Amino acid sequence: MDTQAFKRSLHHSERYNRRGFGRANEVASNLEKAYQSSLIGSIRDNGYVLQHGRLQVKLAEAFGFCWGVERAVAMAYETRRHYPSERIWITNEIIHNPSVNEHLREMDVLFIQAEGGVKDFSCVSDGDVVILPAFGATVQEMELLHERGCHIIDTTCPWVSKVWHTVEKHKKQEFTSIIHGKVKHEETLATSSFAGTYLVVLDLEEAQLVADYILGQGDRAGFMKRFAKACSANFDPDQDLQRLGVANQTTMLKSETEEIGRLFERTMLRKYGPIELNKHFLSFNTICDATEERQQAMFSLVDEPLDLLVVIGGFNSSNTTHLQEIAISRGIRSFHIDTPERIGDNNSIQHKPLGEDLFIESNFLPTGSVSVGITSGASTPDRVVEHVIQKLIDLTSD
Ligand code: SF4
Repeated sequence: MDTQAFKRSLHHSERYNRRGFGRANEVASNLEKAYQSSLIGSIRDNGYVLQHGRLQVKLAEAFGFCWGVERAVAMAYETRRHYPSERIWITNEIIHNPSVNEHLREMDVLFIQAEGGVKDFSCVSDGDVVILPAFGATVQEMELLHERGCHIIDTTCPWVSKVWHTVEKHKKQEFTSIIHGKVKHEETLATSSFAGTYLVVLDLEEAQLVADYILGQGDRAGFMKRFAKACSANFDPDQDLQRLGVANQTTMLKSETEEIGRLFERTMLRKYGPIELNKHFLSFNTICDATEERQQAMFSLVDEPLDLLVVIGGFNSSNTTHLQEIAISRGIRSFHIDTPERIGDNNSIQHKPLGEDLFIESNFLPTGSVSVGITSGASTPDRVVEHVIQKLIDLTSD
């Protein structure tokens, strides 16, 4: 499918909108009330530190709502204003944050249901309004909704669109896209749908397996078994790993994406030599600024003397998980929670250790002076962070 031609025609359609409705002022106060926080503002003004009795809170210097998320949420609110009585659907959570999605439900925005990873669009009719979330939608979903006569409100973050352009460039030049991402994540599913031949690698370990195969150190059956669900149809590792371009899910760990890029550059250099390298390896920077800033701020935060860290964000939020990985890599006690309600009045916390199920820890705040680092993913509103801090204050006030 010529995805670029499809997008061009979609963008010219009267039933497609990716710029909002010019109603930003009308929704500003609702957004402020729902998501912003004066407490967080004052902590920021105080050098990102709050001292309250025996509790010290240190905030990361960049955290929470990024530009792309703010834009997507504002567009969803504007959409409800613009279409007060139409049925409005969203193809997925607009962002990975339970409170934001709950607010949308309260505004009668309906969520397309999925079973076994397959979305059921049978409920969507001609004339319905459908919002595409910040991390985008697959080209097949867009095509289906367009053909069905829906109004499409596309809040896809421009950073995500930039990755789509990148894999389309790979496709045009007949390069295979190596996508650093999580194969089932909506953004990676969308990016894959715009790519031609592709292979998704989760981390450096998987990238190394691919690099080894390129250099003749792997077996085909084992390779295909490992990547069976992470590659384009009819992927042939002997044919399709000769010309590579690297792209990424925008919320992956920046340092790892860069390492993967360097690995494939070295691999192709070894295999084809410096003169031929450009014919076999393409690299564009597709790391999102906001993700990078939040990860940098986390690296600074974990250098501070902290007793523990609370990382706030949806459990399915990729960028939040990577923030927690940074805490774990430094051996700091860290707790990933999605809502303030995970903190109990009895000094317990229900959190999600990395890669494990929810777990309740008792007495998570020690007695005496305690220094707590806090950060949150790009889809967590300041209001949620404020409520978490309030809970910590309550637990440490005698
Ligand atoms: S994290 Fe980056 S790519 Fe994702 S919505 Fe925010 S700005 Fe866009």
